[in-house]
Amino acid sequence: MSETPTAPRRGMLLVVAGPSGVGKGTLIRELLERHPEIEWSVSCTTRDHRPGETPGEDYHFISDDEFMRMAEQGELLEWALVHGIDRYGTPRAPVDEALAEGRDVVLEIDYQGARSVRAAMPEAVMVFVAPPDAEALRERLAARRTEDDCAVARRMRSARIEFGSMGMFEYVLVNDQLSVACDELEAVYLAERLRTRRCGWRELQRRLLAGMGDEGR
Ligand code: ADP
Repeated sequence: MSETPTAPRRGMLLVVAGPSGVGKGTLIRELLERHPEIEWSVSCTTRDHRPGETPGEDYHFISDDEFMRMAEQGELLEWALVHGIDRYGTPRAPVDEALAEGRDVVLEIDYQGARSVRAAMPEAVMVFVAPPDAEALRERLAARRTEDDCAVARRMRSARIEFGSMGMFEYVLVNDQLSVACDELEAVYLAERLRTRRCGWRELQRRLLAGMGDEGR
């Protein structure tokens, strides 16, 4: 007998942070491939659109004025000025709606955004992705070919600040061998789904007890 749960399960907000170039996007793409039920929160940004990026899928590319309007009107769950020039933010409404309807959402943000989300939504699951060493991070930034040397140096300076924030996360994952890191991110997601506050145990308990009739009384 299947029954509709009385209160829908609340979704999980999975926050993935870490320095630029560490592999957050790559890990999240693989997690979404394995779990298409997870929703990707599309951020807004004022930075230029890189080749290969699809507006509305990778980011919503918006002007500084529009960005500031959204921030002032409380339409962003978090926002940050990254590398002193580009603004990135998370539209609040789609996240609130998905979580209320029991859908899980993954968010890729920097440490400043992670701090704001933790304050706004303390139940969010916070994961920091670290490189195995500084050299690997430098190589990945250079290999991405979207940055010139000056941008790589700027991102390495920001990475120093990101590393300083590691202690505020619940999970730290080292992205050395990609397949291992993907398995670890999935393990965090799967374990967090089973937490009593998320797994709808009351409904399960009610069904189990109802199915027992007078047995064991
Ligand atoms: P981020 O989203 O954190 O800025 P990306 O996902 O864009 O980082 O990854 C940066 C670069 O590093 C990409 O070229 C990606 O293919 C590469 N990369 C990601 N993870 C690994 C890994 N474990 N080993 C080697 N290269 C990786």
